[in-house]
Amino acid sequence: MPGPFATHEVFNQPPPLEDLNLFTSDKALVEAVEREGGGDASERLAAFGEVAGSAQAFERGRLANEHPPRLATHDRHGRRRDTVAYHPAYHDLMATSCGEGLHSSVWADLAEAAQRPRAGAHVRRAGAFYMAAQMEAGHCCPITMTNAAVPVLLLEPSLAKQWVPRILPFKYDPSFAPAAGKSAATLGMGMTEKQGGTDVRAATTKAEPIGARGSGAEYIVTGHKWFMSAPMSDAFVVLAQAAVGLTCFLMPRFLPDGSVNALHFQRLKDKLGNRSNASSEVEFAGAHAWAIGEEGRGVATIIEMVTHTRLDCALASAGLMRLALANAIHYAEHRGAFGKKLVEQPLMREVLADMALDVEAATALSFRLARSFDRTSDAGAGAWRRVMTPVTKYWVCKIAPALVAEAMECLGGSGYVEEAPLARIYREVPVNSIWEGSGSVMALDVLRVLQREPEAAQAVIEGLGAAAADDGRLRFAHGRIESLLHEPVLLDQRGRLLVEALAVLAAGTILKAHAPAAVADAFIASRFGGGARQTYGQGLEGADVRAILARSSASCG
Ligand SMILES: Cc1cc2nc3c(=O)[nH]c(=O)nc-3n(C[C@H](O)[C@H](O)[C@H](O)COP(=O)(O)OP(=O)(O)OC[C@H]3O[C@@H](n4cnc5c(N)ncnc54)[C@H](O)[C@@H]3O)c2cc1C
Repeated sequence: MPGPFATHEVFNQPPPLEDLNLFTSDKALVEAVEREGGGDASERLAAFGEVAGSAQAFERGRLANEHPPRLATHDRHGRRRDTVAYHPAYHDLMATSCGEGLHSSVWADLAEAAQRPRAGAHVRRAGAFYMAAQMEAGHCCPITMTNAAVPVLLLEPSLAKQWVPRILPFKYDPSFAPAAGKSAATLGMGMTEKQGGTDVRAATTKAEPIGARGSGAEYIVTGHKWFMSAPMSDAFVVLAQAAVGLTCFLMPRFLPDGSVNALHFQRLKDKLGNRSNASSEVEFAGAHAWAIGEEGRGVATIIEMVTHTRLDCALASAGLMRLALANAIHYAEHRGAFGKKLVEQPLMREVLADMALDVEAATALSFRLARSFDRTSDAGAGAWRRVMTPVTKYWVCKIAPALVAEAMECLGGSGYVEEAPLARIYREVPVNSIWEGSGSVMALDVLRVLQREPEAAQAVIEGLGAAAADDGRLRFAHGRIESLLHEPVLLDQRGRLLVEALAVLAAGTILKAHAPAAVADAFIASRFGGGARQTYGQGLEGADVRAILARSSASCG
């Protein structure tokens, strides 16, 4: 009897890369977590790595993206519903990540007096979040926003008292019901309007107080948002114009009397990627909201939420780069061509090792940034957080699409097909660069620090100088940054140049101090050697490519 493939035998195809531990198989991650202060969570992270890298978890990721959420604006009788239905796989992913506490763990042991997260908390969460993004990236959007909303809620004690205890449980409750009766709550964010996203001051949404005005007071909000993701969140941190100017509000889905608040969803965005996550266009038709912070202080109030989301953008991009690289190496380890495994073909090895260097750098930078969120009382960490949040978000999120494209190419035609995870990762990665401040906006933010907080910029640049001191190429790169700052050219035109130079130098110094010599030497030689590079697989002459790849292979764990 002929088998299903009557004409041939199937061979030289790799096994799927699944049922792997996303933590223990990733040496750069394990070391970054340890180095930056989260080492005591290694066991827990290893347990989560097993779950997040399971075939079941990856399958849920596939299903949640192949069956995107659907909006029901009205019921069949024409009454408003404004609900979004998700595939069960999405809810499973949310339950997994919330069960791990990714939406709230850093605030769980909040020291009440200082209102600061405990040491190491961000790094531990970062380790798990980096893996959750590999499991499935779209559901990380509400996870990120919920986590990031907490420091804003803490600014208005009456709201914090009600809402923070609803957010803290390591649970997920998708029911459409008043948050007071639910076992857990998630939060979203509404800033972007049709006429202005980056320039939020252009918001036209209006807020009128019902009685008293100011922080904690109730307002009626009328207007719209052009992007408001995770519309089934229990409440949203939104910006609207009050009499004095742009103000921050908390807008719940349900009102205290149990009725549904007037958030009318118009449609869901049809997006390039990030398809498991719903992103809505919404009208606020006289919705009730409670002010957080004083009128006119909206941007200053919401900025902490924005800063936390920028950290997650970098972490998620670094995680997705790692997953793409692991898949590329795995394929090359199993696929033969021209008499050898692809991983033995010199040019393929160079390409893979070169990508591995960027993954090492992105991981190192993202976890160093996470540590600076933990050490909020230390001036050096504060300066790093202020300067390096936009730098890290810019660089990690910007290099991700090119890296994922190259990883996809390593799988040849099979990489381009939806059954491999690479196609979905490729469609996913650009979003991290766009939302919460696109590339040039990150560069402008760094220039703002130079002008308004020169002591923070100086502390970071001096620190990088000290870290670069032992290596001539790093010293030269540091000198170039110093001269960029002092040349008589409009800094505006140098924004991206400066940000990229800072990112690569910072990564070089961290790798030099902590990574194995094979990784650090190759990164420094190829990124600071002066050769022109626009694609992967160049400048690794003399590098210990085998050692770099052995470390980066997912089969090493
Ligand atoms: C999938 C997805 C989900 C999203 N979810 C949310 C959400 O939940 N809540 C929310 O509020 N928003 C959300 N957004 C919106 C997102 O944050 C904005 O798209 C982003 O901030 C950019 O704003 P914009 O689209 O209005 O672009 P614009 O502000 O028009 O910017 C266009 C381009 O101009 C550049 N630019 C802007 N100003 C300058 C300048 N001064 N100099 C040089 N260049 C400049 C920007 O960098 C950008 O590249 C989401 C977006 C996406 C894609």
